[in-house]
Amino acid sequence: MIDLRSDTVTQPTPEMRQAIADAPVGDDVYHDDPSVLALEEMVSELLGKEDAIYMPTGTMSNQVAIRAHTESGDVVLAAASAHVNTNELGAANALAGVTIRELDSTRGTFTAEEVRRAVPEPPAGMPGALFQPVTLLAAENTHNGAGGAIWPIEDLHAVAATAGELGLATHLDGARLWNASAATGIAESEYAHDFDTVSVCFSKGLGAPVGSALVGDRAVIDRARRFKQMYGGGFRQAGMMAAGAAYAITNHRQRLTEDHDNAKRVAAGIADAAGLDVDLETIVTNMVYFRVTEKSAAEFATTCRASGVNLLPTGSNTIRIVFHLGVTVPDATKALEIITAAAAD
Ligand SMILES: *Cc1c(COP(=O)(O)O)cnc(C)c1O
Repeated sequence: MIDLRSDTVTQPTPEMRQAIADAPVGDDVYHDDPSVLALEEMVSELLGKEDAIYMPTGTMSNQVAIRAHTESGDVVLAAASAHVNTNELGAANALAGVTIRELDSTRGTFTAEEVRRAVPEPPAGMPGALFQPVTLLAAENTHNGAGGAIWPIEDLHAVAATAGELGLATHLDGARLWNASAATGIAESEYAHDFDTVSVCFSKGLGAPVGSALVGDRAVIDRARRFKQMYGGGFRQAGMMAAGAAYAITNHRQRLTEDHDNAKRVAAGIADAAGLDVDLETIVTNMVYFRVTEKSAAEFATTCRASGVNLLPTGSNTIRIVFHLGVTVPDATKALEIITAAAAD
């Protein structure tokens, strides 16, 4: 089965399994696991921040960041389609007690003007106490819901600068920041530069089995450590998993462009196929969202699955496919054949 549902389905390679088997470990709650400490140092350096925390999941990284930056009753600004808004089960609301104010966005990106509009000045005469404080801005790069879209770096700088002027803290959900950097050549630290905290994932395209990290300056990361523990994220001999993440950063980051090439090539084939429709301009990293015009996405997915391709229906006529470590160039070619045949079926 060629599994294109997500880049989270990767299997650890034999070399990664060896690195995991060989990892020295301690106790993450005592913060003396040498493999965790080594990973945290590696990630904080790559992202250009003072400190990092290894986390079990990207969701926990984002939610701990939101909790660390806000007080219950605050407003957090995020794109309506942001993972923190739509894919984290209402955690910001349930756990941090904040309201998410949805920004209008174009493929997950919004403007500094949009940020300004979302933080109105209290009208003269209106008691400031009647205004819910807006304290955090969250952006996402690459943007998952928008098909792996990349923020233009100057737009990211502009919204972060505006958030700063408005007195907001800033968080970047960089679950796939590695893909943005691989595609543009702009360093992860450059994307991270203007944000107080950044989360990154190791278990997506990098192919590690488990984990994420939250980076920022020492004060915010110290505060975040408390909430990691509170949320149940102290994961003891986590060095086993951290070693897989460190291996992935060292060995799999450079190959992400192969996934982007496969995505572009398969998308071009889909654009030419009868019964399928895709906007090629939107394919910039490892994801392809396309439409099935003559049948339902569910029916189409069932046909593909029977022929050996697993893909993800995301709506009544839309399908997502994602390229990753476990999909070779011949796999991508085979997948395209199966997809076009299923559309013609
Ligand atoms: C996958 C993802 C997350 C969450 O990561 P998990 O490890 O699955 O919890 C957060 N943000 C984005 C943009 C993601 O794609």
